[in-house]
Amino acid sequence: MPFIITDPCIDTKDTACVDVCPVDCIHPRKDEPEFQTANMLYIHPEECIDCGACVPACPVAAIYDGPDSTPDNQKDLIDANTIYRLGDADSMAKAEAIVAAHRTKEPALMAIPAPERAAAHHK
Ligand code: SF4
Ligand code: SF4
Repeated sequence: MPFIITDPCIDTKDTACVDVCPVDCIHPRKDEPEFQTANMLYIHPEECIDCGACVPACPVAAIYDGPDSTPDNQKDLIDANTIYRLGDADSMAKAEAIVAAHRTKEPALMAIPAPERAAAHHK
């Protein structure tokens, strides 16, 4: 099962996970044009080899090891990760729209500083 990036990545986006991923399946990278405007980064669900290297690298615990372990209030972002992989402008925009809707749907979570947000996922 692919790993999933969730909402502590919003506002963080430091690309520490990109630097350790052995198969370059996390996008957008800093050298991709979408990076500046992207709300967060996304894992390509078919390219991810489930190695787990990105999890300890993430300073804000944004990455879960699959859809089943992704908390209920983050499951909308599974689709964002999935859709972004298609790579065309429309798909990337749809993924970003899901994240924007997530920001609106979860105001209490989004008010928590990113480094503390994962701890609140299960509350
Ligand atoms: S689990 Fe491994 S392959 Fe998948 S995104 Fe993380 S570092 Fe990349
Ligand atoms: S390491 Fe975590 S916060 Fe940084 S870009 Fe990756 S998922 Fe986002």
